[in-house]
Amino acid sequence: MTQDDCLFCKILAGEIPSTEVASNEDAYAFRDISPNAPTHVVVVPRRHYRDVADISHKEPELLGKVAALAAEVADQEGVTESGWRLVANTGPDAGQTVFHVHFHVLGGEPLGALNA
Ligand code: C5P
Repeated sequence: MTQDDCLFCKILAGEIPSTEVASNEDAYAFRDISPNAPTHVVVVPRRHYRDVADISHKEPELLGKVAALAAEVADQEGVTESGWRLVANTGPDAGQTVFHVHFHVLGGEPLGALNA
């Protein structure tokens, strides 16, 4: 399941280059092209869902698998002990720019508090 006009579907298809960090049959992790922290990796499911709400409703177990790959990335990047942040921007107010659900794995320096 892919969408022709989706940037991350094109990355998954190898049509747009990316730097792989980790991968399995369900999900793919690559370095963010415009990093906001020493570790900044984007983790996406191979199947296209618009955002966290969409995947949660339609295939919640896949969301868990994407999160599990994010945790593997954190291990691989050596930030498990120091700490890392998992971010899923959802919708325009949150700054989502690519509407293929994804997690940002951020770490490698103190990230500051979130205003929640
Ligand atoms: O959460 P948001 O939708 O804004 O995140 C999209 C992310 O995808 C951005 O951080 C952007 O830098 C990244 N990106 C990328 N490679 C591309 C296009 C976008 O890593 N070719």
